[in-house]
This record gives sequence, C-alpha cells and structure tokens, in this order.
Amino acid sequence: MFQFCSLYSGSSGNCSFLQTNTTKILIDAGQTAKKIEESLTSISVAPTSLHAILITHEHSDHIKGLSIFAKKFHIPVYANEETWNAMAQQREKLEKEQIKYFSFQPFLLGDIQIEPFPIPHDAANPCGFTFLHENKKMSIATDIGHITQEVMSHLTNSSFLLLEANYEPEVLKCSSYPYLLKQRIYGPNGHLSNVEAGKTISYLMNYGLKQAMLGHLSKENNFPELAYKTVVEELIQQHPMENSFHLSVANRFEVSPIIEVS
Ligand SMILES: [Zn+2]
Ligand SMILES: [Zn+2]
Repeated sequence: MFQFCSLYSGSSGNCSFLQTNTTKILIDAGQTAKKIEESLTSISVAPTSLHAILITHEHSDHIKGLSIFAKKFHIPVYANEETWNAMAQQREKLEKEQIKYFSFQPFLLGDIQIEPFPIPHDAANPCGFTFLHENKKMSIATDIGHITQEVMSHLTNSSFLLLEANYEPEVLKCSSYPYLLKQRIYGPNGHLSNVEAGKTISYLMNYGLKQAMLGHLSKENNFPELAYKTVVEELIQQHPMENSFHLSVANRFEVSPIIEVS
C-alpha cells in the first residue's frame, strides 16, 4: 500500500510525500527547509528516514529549500541532467554522492518503481512521475501546459492522481497579471486550467482512477472551491452514475490528509 500526502501545493511552493512500508520519498522541495521539516514532523516522519527527493523541474516553487534540506539530512536528490544543469547553484551545495541522475526510463527506489515522463512546460526538461508498488499505480502531474497523448498514456491505470488545476480562464483574464504572463499561463507550455483537469480526470476514471487531488492552484487566478466545483461538474456530466469517486483539493500551506492507495 502507498500512503501519499501533499505537504505544500500551489504556485507558492510544492512538496509531496510518499511512502510504502519500507520506502519514503519526497517529490520536490519548493518550500523553505524549515517548513518542509515542520510539515514532515507533523505527520511523524523523520527527515533522516527519507530515501530520496525527486525533482520534477527547476522552477523555484519546486526547489526553494532543496539544497539546505537535502544537505542537512544527507538525502540523495534525483533529477534529470537538464534539470540539474538548470539548478547548478543547488547542485554545487550538495555532496557528490547526493547527486543522482535519472532519464525517462523506469528505475527502482526501495520497493517503489518510478517512471518519469516528459510534460509540456517551460522548464529545461520537466517531468511528471508514476509510482508502482504491489501492482498499484499512482501519479503526480503538475505544471502541464496541456495534456498530450504521451502524458495521458502514462497516467492511465493510476488509482490515485495528484493533478494540476492551476487557473480558471475567466479569473485569469480579469487578473492584474501582465499580458505576457497571462499568455504564458494559457499557453501550451504553461499551466493546466480547472476544466482541463476535470476532463483529464473524467477520462482516466474510465481506466481505473479512484481518487484524485487537485493541486498547484494559482493564488491569483483560482479559488479552491471554484476548482473543486468545476471539476465535479465535469465528472457528474460524464459519469452520472458514479458515486464512490473521491476528489479533494490540496491546500497551499496545510498538510493534506494521508491518502491511502491500496
Ligand atoms: Zn513550473
Ligand atoms: Zn510549479
């Protein structure tokens, strides 16, 4: 069984925790080292017990506390080569044996098989992850400009998914963001909207998805209630007879309940 917990999620910082009986990993470290430590302590996880930190991409909301946290607790950090090159300042602060590379090939960390996959986003070589353990699959996919066939094929057959629901188009349109930033968010390498998240979840429900958590919500261009409502409306429309699906929204600064994927 997997246990998953969102520690921080949103445009202001991202960090998630995943464990089996014997393996504990962190995905991204986009909060200060102190805050990451506090959030792990709140779920009774000792930072020294972490086996690895996986990095999706080098944007600061994913690596803010990385080098300080990883160095303090001697945790190996896994990223692809282009991402490491794009966060050279963080790499310099780590011990050589902490710097681990992956490519878009499955690899094992303890008893979890990790499959990184490419996502369309304006970073060096950004990725999502699927995790496999005892025939169960769960996935994390945030910072996605649009859902490609390749992304969808990796997410298929996940029981649980943490998916980005970054913005509501009407709210973004009216926000005070500069035009170019709005274009970036809307664009094919920016972020995923609420309705796109709803359509993706709805489709994946045909392929074994039982629970989903909406994450990486924009502070300026979205509201948790609106993201939830938009996605629920899409799911009711497409799956009117479904009544056991579990949908939640990750809180920006609060640790989520622990999700069990079994
Ligand atoms: Zn990003
Ligand atoms: Zn991000």
